[in-house]
Amino acid sequence: MFGGSFDPVHRGHLAVAHQAVLQLALDQVLFVPARVQPLKTQGPSAGPEHRVAMLRAAIDGESAFVVDLRELARPAPSYTVDTLRELKLERPRDQLFLILGADAAWDLPRWHEASDVERLATLAVVRRPGAPVPPLPASTVTLALEPVDVSATAVRDATERGEVIDQLVPKAVAEYIAVHRLYR
Ligand code: ATP
Repeated sequence: MFGGSFDPVHRGHLAVAHQAVLQLALDQVLFVPARVQPLKTQGPSAGPEHRVAMLRAAIDGESAFVVDLRELARPAPSYTVDTLRELKLERPRDQLFLILGADAAWDLPRWHEASDVERLATLAVVRRPGAPVPPLPASTVTLALEPVDVSATAVRDATERGEVIDQLVPKAVAEYIAVHRLYR
């Protein structure tokens, strides 16, 4: 499971998901866009339909990647623990991993029912520029990946300034943002 705002999905997310498949031998990566992330001070800037459309465009042709809409179907806030419980019921024999950037991992102790999150899924943490990896349960795996210096905030800010964002997001996402005049 790879949850987030994906506002928008960017090259950092995709690099992380690819490495997770390779290093953890995953069958699937579920990209789970949140309705509202409980610990973010601001809600998403783009509506759920745009965030989903950009995710779909970004993962087109990637057979191991799936967009999972369950958190958008539930009322906010979007608690990861609820999603993991549902996934465990649906796939009782699967081993679940929760993919997290190091910045998000620092917040984990404050998550709703954090101890159940850690019980339901193996944490797979990724280093991120400016965010050291926090102390985590012994079962945590750390993905070996050169930190990718891209954030959705940087994409939104660059778009607002009228800059080219091709280095930050896949081509299809850059085109979608331009056509729909997002983040302006
Ligand atoms: P924002 O800048 O709006 O806060 P973001 O770039 O952190 O957004 P999210 O959709 O909030 O993107 O992130 C979802 C998950 O992906 C989080 O666990 C986050 O830590 C992780 N993530 C995002 N970008 C990167 C990156 N460049 N490297 C590693 N992990 C990342």
